[in-house]
Amino acid sequence: MKIGVLALQGDFVEHIEMLKRAGAAGIEVRLPPDLAEIDGLIIPGGESTSIGKLAVLYDLIEPIRKLAETQPVWGTCAGAIFLSKEVHHQQPVLGLMDIVVRRNAFGRQVDSFETDLNVPALAAGAGEPRPFHAVFIRAPLIERVGADAEVLATLPDGRIVAVRERNLLATSFHPELTGDDRFHRYFLSLRR
Ligand code: GLN
Repeated sequence: MKIGVLALQGDFVEHIEMLKRAGAAGIEVRLPPDLAEIDGLIIPGGESTSIGKLAVLYDLIEPIRKLAETQPVWGTCAGAIFLSKEVHHQQPVLGLMDIVVRRNAFGRQVDSFETDLNVPALAAGAGEPRPFHAVFIRAPLIERVGADAEVLATLPDGRIVAVRERNLLATSFHPELTGDDRFHRYFLSLRR
């Protein structure tokens, strides 16, 4: 399986490494023709305003929207912001996923943190899956989700940090940074 990774800015190299570990090939996407012949797309973490502006500059917005009609698309951190319909901020977004996000909701860079999350959707077979170690780097919060959303993970206080809406996936944190490929495998399983 070939998965595109938007390679305009951010930690796309780490996603490509994790895809390899999960048994898929990661293809760097920089221009619209790179979107041909991929079976899904990952938008990495980084800085969402930069990713958005570069995506406008390289005419990627419409082609990515088109791709999302048939292929799974996953945004991690800045990528989740870029996927959303609404951000409390003026910046280019894809507007694909019915979520409202708040950027930098946990504070500044120094307030970045790591925590273990319970993610039932990652269960492989019977029993409770082991927790998923999640890295939050100046992360956004998913403040509201639409009617078609399946909330995959929350913090202990109930704040939403991972959600799936049909073939779209958004995580506030960075599964590409932990060495645990279960989220990447879960994403690969969304392919219809
Ligand atoms: N704070 C960044 C933004 O708003 C996201 C950070 C990240 O992707 N780790 O775009």
